[in-house]
Amino acid sequence: MVAEVLVEVAAKQISQTFSYAVPSDKKVEVGKRVLVPFGSRTVEGFVLKMEEGTKDFSLKPILEVIDEEAVLNEELLELGTYLSKLTMCSLITAYQAMLPKALKAKKGVEIAKKEVSYISVKETSYLPKTEKQKELFTLLSLGPVLKTELKDYQSTVKTLLAKDILKEEKKEVYRMSSEVEVSPFKPVLSEEQKVVINHIAQKKNTFAPILLHGVTGSGKTEVYMRLIEEVLERGKQAIVLVPEISLTPQLVDTFQKRFGNLIAILHSRLSDGEKYDEWRKIVREEVSIVIGARSAIFAPFTRLGIIIIDEEHTATYKQENNPKYHAVTIALKRAKKHHCPLVLGSATPSLESYTRAKLGVYELLTMKNRIYGSLPKVHLVDMRKNLKEGYRIFSKELLEALTSCFERGEQAILLLNRRGYSTTVTCHDCGYKVICPNCDIPLTYHKKINAMKCHYCNYTTAKPRECPECHSKHIDEFGLGTEKLEEEFKRLFPTISSVRMDVDTTTRKGSHDRIIHDFSHQKYQVLIGTQMIAKGLDFEEVTLVGVINGDASLNIPDFRSAEKTYSLLSQVSGRAGRAKKEGNVYIQGFNLDHYSICYASKHDYEHFYEEEMKIRKTLCYPPYRNLAILKMISMNYEKCLEESEKVADFLKRNLSSSVTILGPTVSTLPKYKNRYYFQILLKYQDSKEVRKEISFLIEKYRSNRMVSLDVDLSA
Ligand code: ADP
Ligand code: ZN
Ligand code: ZN
Repeated sequence: MVAEVLVEVAAKQISQTFSYAVPSDKKVEVGKRVLVPFGSRTVEGFVLKMEEGTKDFSLKPILEVIDEEAVLNEELLELGTYLSKLTMCSLITAYQAMLPKALKAKKGVEIAKKEVSYISVKETSYLPKTEKQKELFTLLSLGPVLKTELKDYQSTVKTLLAKDILKEEKKEVYRMSSEVEVSPFKPVLSEEQKVVINHIAQKKNTFAPILLHGVTGSGKTEVYMRLIEEVLERGKQAIVLVPEISLTPQLVDTFQKRFGNLIAILHSRLSDGEKYDEWRKIVREEVSIVIGARSAIFAPFTRLGIIIIDEEHTATYKQENNPKYHAVTIALKRAKKHHCPLVLGSATPSLESYTRAKLGVYELLTMKNRIYGSLPKVHLVDMRKNLKEGYRIFSKELLEALTSCFERGEQAILLLNRRGYSTTVTCHDCGYKVICPNCDIPLTYHKKINAMKCHYCNYTTAKPRECPECHSKHIDEFGLGTEKLEEEFKRLFPTISSVRMDVDTTTRKGSHDRIIHDFSHQKYQVLIGTQMIAKGLDFEEVTLVGVINGDASLNIPDFRSAEKTYSLLSQVSGRAGRAKKEGNVYIQGFNLDHYSICYASKHDYEHFYEEEMKIRKTLCYPPYRNLAILKMISMNYEKCLEESEKVADFLKRNLSSSVTILGPTVSTLPKYKNRYYFQILLKYQDSKEVRKEISFLIEKYRSNRMVSLDVDLSA
């Protein structure tokens, strides 16, 4: 037999495999990982094919089979091919991206199963002699006992093991287990929930992509759970994607209360060992539900009955490095294969999804009402006026609202989408800004560590005492970050307890959970944070939300900035007044006339959508056109520019006039970790010709050591 093995080496072709002889004593199978000789090295690879071969004695043999069971089942094998074609990445990159680290074909990564030892009696006819032995045998009379629980009998155990009277057995244990008690409680469904659930439940065994447009607090989680219950009853399985699990501990909690240990959890904050264990629970079918972030879409269930993507508009569903895929695209593929519904839930659907729903590609279901009460009242607060009156960070209006909220004993959330203390460190006299030497962007001052940090590459350095340009001593922090906001809040409200949640306060594992838990148990009256606090959280006592610099995200050079602003403001507003009490939201800013802010304040998605679509149409942006971003990356600025121009020229010569080619221009982030970035933007309708030319370029730059080409086809 001959096996075709895909290895992680820079191959000439995108999906090139190498042939190896299969030794008769080795259990080689398609989808398993094997160790093979490659040049002077040995490398790991996936077996993709096995064939009856002619006796070719020059073939080197497979050295070792790594897996007992295939890590890539039939569907995953197929999905990898699809992924590699879709994103134009190499096949090996696609497979590696689908698997947890422990199962990637990478040498030197060894993640073992976790085992514990059990002690039991082997020689049953043995009569215990000493008191200690008698006690020990009483303990063991009911069956095997964990070795760690027999610490008091350590030496006795040791002696009897040596004499073969006791035996020690190792058993695998999972690193994570759910300790949440299952609760039989289920709420009575609202009319809107009933309609949605009945409708989707009818679609069993059919491919049905559905956009569930439900306002914040309309009870989407309950809808998901009821749908899953029905799926489990039919012996099928469910995948639930959430933007980032550590930010939604409440959702996981709710699910665990309903489904107990039928759930595996997959997200980036787990250790590699934990991910490995969760993955195996899925493969062994010990669980029927997976809740996870983006890559959980590859969970190897074989009987999928539903896929749910919560907050479908979230940017993190798109992977930013290779393979640059969107989880929704993969979900559509899998739902089609398994003939099951795909539910995309959001209060602020992406323009793409809403357009698909309007065109009938997705079915649109809506939930317009909150379970309790109504949507909060949103107040727009003009900071120009406030500045004139001497209010800088907190407006007069927000201060008054906070004061009365605290008087009523209720909770508040303050959002500022900028971490750190100040945004820049600048010289008063000459205007010099301290920038990152690796990325050329302003450094952010962090007071707690009394240092400046680059928020892209993490470069950290001390704050200069004088201006490096003009030696003036007037060098100071400008702009506002969450750290300063918290400080200012404490100064104004010294008796009110507050907690801050942003990247800087949540570096340790479990810190999100703790903050959210404490806040929901009223340990703090105020939660201050970045966009991290905007999503999915459900606190009954929060009646006030304040947004500082609510218009800041409009200044980001991104064609989606209006959409992102609308969604961020709606999401964070959605945290207010979710229970019986009325909620109020104050959005502070300088440029509040923007339609994204106006419509967000009125909870008017429809009109926002119409307005935004006009602009997308005029500027030929998605969803009217497809967008591809080509990035040229190099340590050498001139070379980078030169090659970018060559590429742009090539595309202009070879693509039809229906494709708009913009650039080369410097990227949104022109320099990162000492590499320069130029980009070329393609707006097009017909992807066939674009893909053909890009694939030619990818081949061409594959072996270029000076300049590399990075392609994003699902931007
Ligand atoms: P969404 O995800 O749509 O923003 P949630 O699923 O978080 O909303 O639901 C909002 C709140 O309403 C939650 O506290 C949830 O427990 C509660 N809830 C959901 N459905 C019902 C129902 N049928 N009856 C009572 N409470 C419900
Ligand atoms: Zn200066
Ligand atoms: Zn940097």
